[in-house]
Amino acid sequence: MDRRGFNTGVMTALAGATLPFSVRAAPYAGPNVILVRFGGGVRRAETIDEAATFAPYLRHVLVPQGTFIPDMRIAQLDGVNTSHAEGTLNLLTGRYLAYRDAGSEFLNDRLEPTEPTLFEYLRDAFDLPSHQVLLINGEDRPQEEFFTYGVADHYGINFRSEMLSLHRFKLYKFAQILAERRLDDAALQAAQAAYDALLAKDPRAFAPAQSPQVTAFWARWRAHYGDDGFRNPRGDRLLTALALRALAELQPRLMMVNYQDTDYVHWGNPSHYTRAIQIIDDGLQRLVEAVQANPAYRDNTVFVITPDCGRDANPLLGVPFQHHFNTASAHETWALIFGAGVQAGRVIDRPVDQSAIAPTIAALMGFAATQAEGDTLTGIFR
Ligand SMILES: [Zn+2]
Repeated sequence: MDRRGFNTGVMTALAGATLPFSVRAAPYAGPNVILVRFGGGVRRAETIDEAATFAPYLRHVLVPQGTFIPDMRIAQLDGVNTSHAEGTLNLLTGRYLAYRDAGSEFLNDRLEPTEPTLFEYLRDAFDLPSHQVLLINGEDRPQEEFFTYGVADHYGINFRSEMLSLHRFKLYKFAQILAERRLDDAALQAAQAAYDALLAKDPRAFAPAQSPQVTAFWARWRAHYGDDGFRNPRGDRLLTALALRALAELQPRLMMVNYQDTDYVHWGNPSHYTRAIQIIDDGLQRLVEAVQANPAYRDNTVFVITPDCGRDANPLLGVPFQHHFNTASAHETWALIFGAGVQAGRVIDRPVDQSAIAPTIAALMGFAATQAEGDTLTGIFR
């Protein structure tokens, strides 16, 4: 079944349902979880190496506060590509190769999950509105809009997270501009063309549509930053700004922040990579401080910080820091889990597979990621 047909099928099934979800599922009373994807691929050397780190807040301030897993690994399996969409979906599903090419003439690297994501498990188990289950994405990766729900039976779009990204804001903004009709004809034509181009990047028919709370979030964002696009933060600073506003305005219970700008090193300049790590580190500090300042989050929030994939350590390559050559270093990541109920000052001194992240978050939040294949790290809880 194609994507549009799948969505239509879901709508039909929903129309036949007799009970609203809120009647069937229990209210959520567990901890808030903030899952931070630490960049579009980083090496241990520049992040968790105590002497060499470009993320001093992470390494020197946060690591002692939690359970640290310095030797997380992406399994060496046939067909496993150490890259961003793949690693992110490993984190969200708790298994490898749980995705398929979603097909696109506009973009490569467009994968959709074929097994349930954490968002779907959570919203199936508990009565949580979509705006409290959030994915914060970068501005130039509309392919990551595909991570909010999968094509697994039983789950799917009705259990998806909401998405905050510049792509989503622009969709809102141009729809508003076209509805308001305050601009001259040439400007309206340009707005229509921009809106059509955005829609073409993700032609799925979304139903249910974006929630009213998220639409109101964009209205406030637009009132603050305006329409010209020159005033809001860009790159990974934008993700931090979106996440901070989301904490204040939407009160998410599960939020994933997909930092990505370390990946600009593909273009060959190592300083872009180390600078991006510093910006993520600064974003982490702002998120942690916002949580500590917010009574709804202060003593009831767990951070899970982990990269999507590693990067090559081969100094002989013309452009260093790539991650598509299946080197050992590209399979090497790490994780830090800290916050409410998690042991502090602990180091898990053995290899832990990347597939452990999803079932461990599920255990933290009180549901089962039934299709995940990784181990649950229950020993980290106090
Ligand atoms: Zn990359």
